[in-house]
Amino acid sequence: MMLKNKAKKYLIAFFIVLGIISFSFKKVNGQELRIIPRAEWGANESLRFNEKGEDKWPEEYAPVQKFIIHHSGTTLKDNDKNGAVDQEDYKATIRAIYNWHAQVLNWGDIGYNYLIDPLGNIYQGRYGSDGVVGGHALDDVKNIGYNRGSVGIVILGTYGGWVYEQEQGEYLKKPEQFPEIGGIQKIGQEEQHNGRWRVRVEGNISQAAKDSLSSLISSKSKKFNISPNGYSDFVDLINIPNIIGHRDVDRTTCPGENLYASLPEIRNLAQSKYGQSVKAANINRIFAASLQGQSDSEITLKPNETKEIYLEYKNEGNTAAMKFIWPA
Ligand SMILES: [Zn+2]
Repeated sequence: MMLKNKAKKYLIAFFIVLGIISFSFKKVNGQELRIIPRAEWGANESLRFNEKGEDKWPEEYAPVQKFIIHHSGTTLKDNDKNGAVDQEDYKATIRAIYNWHAQVLNWGDIGYNYLIDPLGNIYQGRYGSDGVVGGHALDDVKNIGYNRGSVGIVILGTYGGWVYEQEQGEYLKKPEQFPEIGGIQKIGQEEQHNGRWRVRVEGNISQAAKDSLSSLISSKSKKFNISPNGYSDFVDLINIPNIIGHRDVDRTTCPGENLYASLPEIRNLAQSKYGQSVKAANINRIFAASLQGQSDSEITLKPNETKEIYLEYKNEGNTAAMKFIWPA
């Protein structure tokens, strides 16, 4: 889920309108990484410009340090009602997200850098080339953005989370529109929350999407010399993984509990594709404190007596420590 600015309440309404479930899958394993250009998913490029022909959101570039993973928070169903959930339905979803970001929110483009569907297709999001700053991660309480220096990748679907309904039973009344396909999505319990009805949507990222996500990260990691399973400081955060979930930088449940739980596997997959030789070029930041000395090795205390002693530690790592708790 993207949060360029204070748009959360609008997003909820949007996700009710949108909705898709997948019926068929095809393997993209073993094929070369292909990123579907904007023209192929039907991006209307005129949405990026105002009536004077000016670019509403001119591109900015920054070296990539992090990959931030999202889910779209949508359900998957047969949008065009042709009897199957296929790539055309996913493209329709991407166009809807683009329209939402570019026009309704008036950003002038889609906020994500890449989108991946359950079939494993990878789509270009934000206009521009590698390193273009997107709009997908902003902590609007702290007012700190994490878009600069990160690649925002969204997996279409909901991977452990709640989807709001327009009315009670909207999803449960039409189970045929939301079948469980390959464990991708499953509509679960329904409940009332803050006066609105919502359903629980479960499921895990498909193998095809997992493969594509790790390949995409591996490819861009090579380009920007990032170790997929490494760590570094980022904005105001100390020593965080290079592949993180949206919830790691903002107050959101995105990318859903199940997709978030898959991130360690994604890191390892991306790292293995990236290769060990490149890994050696990256030095992970570590904090290692070693005891250098102490004023007393043994003290004796009478009842109610206090005595001050000191311990001297040295940071022999290569990063700053936020806190160090010494052994009891
Ligand atoms: Zn998100």
